[in-house]
Amino acid sequence: MATSVENVERETDKVMHKLQELSKHREQTLSDLIQQIENYQQDLSMLTSPENELTEIQRDLLLDNVIKKCRNTLNQFSAEHRDIHSSVSRVGKAIDKNFISDYICIGNENLFEEGDNSATFNKVIVEHFLRQGKSDIAERLIQEAKLDIDTKAKVPYIKMNKILDALKGRNLEPALEWAKTHREELLKNNSNFEFKLHRLQFIELLRGGMKNQLQLIMYSRTYFTQFADKYSSEIQVLMGSLMYLKSGLEHSPYAYLLDPNNWTEICNMFTKEACSLLEVSVESPLSVTFNAGCIALPALINIKQAIQQRHVQGVWSSRDELPIEIDVSRKCHYHSIFACPILRQQSSDNNPPMKLQCGHVISRDALNKLTNGSKLKCPYCPVEQNPADARLIYF
Ligand SMILES: [Zn+2]
Repeated sequence: MATSVENVERETDKVMHKLQELSKHREQTLSDLIQQIENYQQDLSMLTSPENELTEIQRDLLLDNVIKKCRNTLNQFSAEHRDIHSSVSRVGKAIDKNFISDYICIGNENLFEEGDNSATFNKVIVEHFLRQGKSDIAERLIQEAKLDIDTKAKVPYIKMNKILDALKGRNLEPALEWAKTHREELLKNNSNFEFKLHRLQFIELLRGGMKNQLQLIMYSRTYFTQFADKYSSEIQVLMGSLMYLKSGLEHSPYAYLLDPNNWTEICNMFTKEACSLLEVSVESPLSVTFNAGCIALPALINIKQAIQQRHVQGVWSSRDELPIEIDVSRKCHYHSIFACPILRQQSSDNNPPMKLQCGHVISRDALNKLTNGSKLKCPYCPVEQNPADARLIYF
């Protein structure tokens, strides 16, 4: 993927470079031409004075000359423009060459026809839109796909997005209210969100300068006392900044307090805290799946082609298992996987891991194979036991 992007980028860079060169050259040529036309005008006005009468023929000659030059320049420009065309079309060819647009071969058409897969998928999409604050789209999808979604499930997302929208508009009030309501839960999570909100509110007051002096002092008295033990050094910094209220904070050692990134940070922080209280992940399952798919797809297309070319279609039969290991980066790791040490296969819903009485874990298929009547000898320790005592393990 990375190299594909680089390949296309190389071609676009070439076009950009050519365009820049061209516009530089064009400006020069045009200003030369304008100069020539001005010279001609000057010549005309000088030569038409009574003592220096210009003949019709002379005037036509001069004019012809200028028109010819204009025409030449125009032809030159359109030739150069044609040349750019070929470079632009090379970008298109590079895109076609480097990116596979035909993904039909890896799709599973029947997947959404099975059971309630289709409805489940629609619900995942609805949840994604709700998280993103696009409740109107979500509502429409619920209606059109006739989904059964509990209104209770929607309310927290709608609330969350309202607060987030306010934060994006630099209004801290709804978030402060939310933090106050959920103070206990936030503290349980060891969150400093409420303090960060008050800190930002204080910084916003600082922006106002001297006219906010009294308000700033009142604010710190009202709100910072409760945080004094935990955030004393940060509160000291905020108090110290008051010394520069008159001369302007932007030219003081405290100028960093005014960093607009504070707002981006508080938005991200709120999303994280709110999702954690709602017990949902920050990223929607749909975007995680999509991103993991983007990483895995090129490798899967390659392996599928290799399997087809070598006529070994039977190799990749299991739907729950990939024929090769794909690294989707640490970000996409959510749970451990178990590979049976006996069958050397990854466990699945049909063949889950089983813990034997002795503590060793093997897959259920392996357990069934090793069972002899009502007896099982652990392949590792080897304690003899009843296979019915083995317990299913959930990751
Ligand atoms: Zn054992």
